[in-house]
Amino acid sequence: MSAPSENPPANALANFAKAFQQTPLWMATAPGRVNLIGEHIDYNDGFVLPAAINRHFTALASTNGSRKIRIRSQHFAEEAVLCLDTPPKPDQARSLWMRYPLGVLAEFLDRAADVPGLDIWVASTVPLGSGLSSSAAFEIAFASILEHASGLSLSQVEKALLCQRAEHVFAGVPCGIMDQFASIMGQNDHLLLIDCQSQDVTPVPMNDDSVCLVVANTNVHHSLASSEYAKRKADCDEAKSQLGVNSWRDVRKEDLASASALLDGHLLKRARHVVTEIQRTQDAVEAIQDHYWEKLGELMYASHDSLAKDYEVSCPELDTVVAIAQELGVSGGVYGARMTGGGFGGSTISLVKTSQAKPVLACYEEYYQEYTGQRLDAFVTRPAQGAQAFPIASIH
Ligand code: ADP
Ligand code: MG
Repeated sequence: MSAPSENPPANALANFAKAFQQTPLWMATAPGRVNLIGEHIDYNDGFVLPAAINRHFTALASTNGSRKIRIRSQHFAEEAVLCLDTPPKPDQARSLWMRYPLGVLAEFLDRAADVPGLDIWVASTVPLGSGLSSSAAFEIAFASILEHASGLSLSQVEKALLCQRAEHVFAGVPCGIMDQFASIMGQNDHLLLIDCQSQDVTPVPMNDDSVCLVVANTNVHHSLASSEYAKRKADCDEAKSQLGVNSWRDVRKEDLASASALLDGHLLKRARHVVTEIQRTQDAVEAIQDHYWEKLGELMYASHDSLAKDYEVSCPELDTVVAIAQELGVSGGVYGARMTGGGFGGSTISLVKTSQAKPVLACYEEYYQEYTGQRLDAFVTRPAQGAQAFPIASIH
């Protein structure tokens, strides 16, 4: 298997040796992801258009001859100890972060996989809890290690669905399929058009060096996120049933005019976001194929507007970044920007001229600090390769 697109963190091997007094046998990497457009429609029969990013979760592993999996994370002091002889249960986890590997292990044991005792060291350059899917990257890197160690081989789709189930059951997050699909199937210089109804994945080339993606992490996470997510999901199901349709794909923008008589005010707003965002995502694919970057930028701003006003999942911090992008405009290097991920904090994504990326990053961070008094972490990314795993000797 080929080497990852990013070398393992320089201190990874030393950290592993320090933690477990031995050398690792396998390494797995899994990228975070960013969604270009198609937000909050993965659970509404829609399309999403994510890319894997050049920030990775890394896991190093070795067998330890016991009936336990020990995991040390660079980000948490406490060691996770997963017992192979007791069926995993979510409440066994002493800390939230341990639920992710426990959930994945449960899925492997359900398939009667012959998982040996392991020592695992993990670290990540995907910021935790910033809407860039560090959780899916964790699940996938861990699942890849378990595949190597147990000999159970999964297809990409099986692995993605297994990890999604782990997140539903053990972390209690009812996520769609986007995060896991993107982290596994990501391709260099391609976005992935995922049809969330059929689960079909179509790579969309984005290989024009004149544009790049800028991710800006606000470092804020409002506690509303999970309760409001559940409410939006319920609103959309209610609106769909009041409209008497089985799928949002059967509703066109024109139908919304007559729907206004059927739906309460806030349900009409939710429906309008879903229907227009499904259309915007399809239009975005066309704009990318035509290298029509001004058009793609307009679609991104329209998506943000719809998420802020109709779906009501933005927040002042995300709106501030988008306002800065608009202030800079195309002449200042920014074609478009929007919140990405679930909202109520997290990150934005912008489409930026590569030649002006440096000053754009500087302006984003400086203006944001000026307007909010807080720190913004902005970085450039290009669509990157998905997860990889290999025996450690092949790195050298
Ligand atoms: P996101 O997936 O957008 O980063 P989530 O809230 O879904 O946000 O997942 C973040 C959680 O995933 C963290 O709070 C932690 O429990 C777990 N996690 C992610 N990366 C790591 C890591 N390197 N070590 C341990 N746990 C991690
Ligand atoms: Mg997540």
